[in-house]
Amino acid sequence: MDIKELFTRSFGYRPEVIASAPGRVNLIGEHIDYSQGYVLPFAIDAVTKCAIAVRSDRRIRIISAQKENEIIESNLGNIAVKQGSAWSKYVYGVIWAMEIDSGLDIHVDGRVPLGAGLSSSAALECSLATALDHLFHLERSPVELARLAQRAENDYVGVPCGIMDQSISLMGRAGYGLLLDCQDLSTRHVKIDFAAQNLKLLIIDTQVHHALSDGGYAKRRQSCEQVAKIFSIPSLRQLSMVNLLAHKSKLSDIEFKRARHGVSEMARVLEAVEVLEGKDFGALGQLLNRSHDSLRDDYEVSCPELDLAVTTALKGGALGARMVGGGFGGSAIALINEGDAGAISLAIERAFAGKGFKAPRFFDSLPSDGAKVIS
Ligand code: ADP
Ligand code: MG
Repeated sequence: MDIKELFTRSFGYRPEVIASAPGRVNLIGEHIDYSQGYVLPFAIDAVTKCAIAVRSDRRIRIISAQKENEIIESNLGNIAVKQGSAWSKYVYGVIWAMEIDSGLDIHVDGRVPLGAGLSSSAALECSLATALDHLFHLERSPVELARLAQRAENDYVGVPCGIMDQSISLMGRAGYGLLLDCQDLSTRHVKIDFAAQNLKLLIIDTQVHHALSDGGYAKRRQSCEQVAKIFSIPSLRQLSMVNLLAHKSKLSDIEFKRARHGVSEMARVLEAVEVLEGKDFGALGQLLNRSHDSLRDDYEVSCPELDLAVTTALKGGALGARMVGGGFGGSAIALINEGDAGAISLAIERAFAGKGFKAPRFFDSLPSDGAKVIS
């Protein structure tokens, strides 16, 4: 059933607006957003859709096809004091951040897998933000909407995410990645012509979430901040590799390794843009491999499952592969020839079974369009 029919069945009348927004994958630029570095994500073809209608009272009714299709009722007064539980907070957060002052009926249906590191949360927020912007003729820019969606997740849901996920979900373009400079939030679309070479990106969800991840993340951030302090600079963005190597003795071994990841990863993102523009996908694969090595050895955020996914993909003929996201679990990506997808997935499945790891899940996608109003 499509989203219009779902809405009509749930609420007994037709929606006024339908919008969609995609999940994303970050091609390269890992663990450097908080060091004012660059990231290069693209939107995937899986989207979350929402259908909305305005109510004449102050009630808010929401329902998700992914959450038992049960209507949850609230009102604008509850939202003003940030009430709500679990998934409803993502919806209320967007209503709150956009300062919507009207009752609403909202139906959500998402095809972005929840909690797989493909940012179903941003897909949900951005589909809502796009629909509400259209419904109330707010005419906010994609950058403004990204900030509002981020504020919903930071200040209402309470997840301290950066602005990458919302930016790419709103600004994605089929066949392009988005180079986002985390220092000034400027963006540039970069052509990613995988399809012309019969390539695609395989996404391997290890289904592992190690308890280490939260503390590990905070510690990594602290190390980067400490190095910036030692060099008296705002962030690793202002540090060159030459300077880092010349002053290695000022740092502990750990600090040096963490900084070397940050500085080298920033250079790899810019190199990736260059090789993408020259359609040199072999070179792109090498950059993905070097990113993984750096995350594993210098940043120490990989884990046996991620390493096995990467090495097995490479053995099966991938041009390159790396872990993505915070680490200690989550997903890996592999740049592969379209025709190899089945064999590589099977090899990874078998390798995981052989080690007694949980069965992985697979997705694949080409760079796709960002959020849009459908009707
Ligand atoms: P990710 O963004 O990587 O998928 P998160 O934990 O950041 O993982 O966000 C997942 C959460 O977002 C879900 O647990 C749920 O609360 C909410 N969510 C995302 N998509 C939907 C949906 N279609 N319906 C209901 N809730 C959703
Ligand atoms: Mg998320």
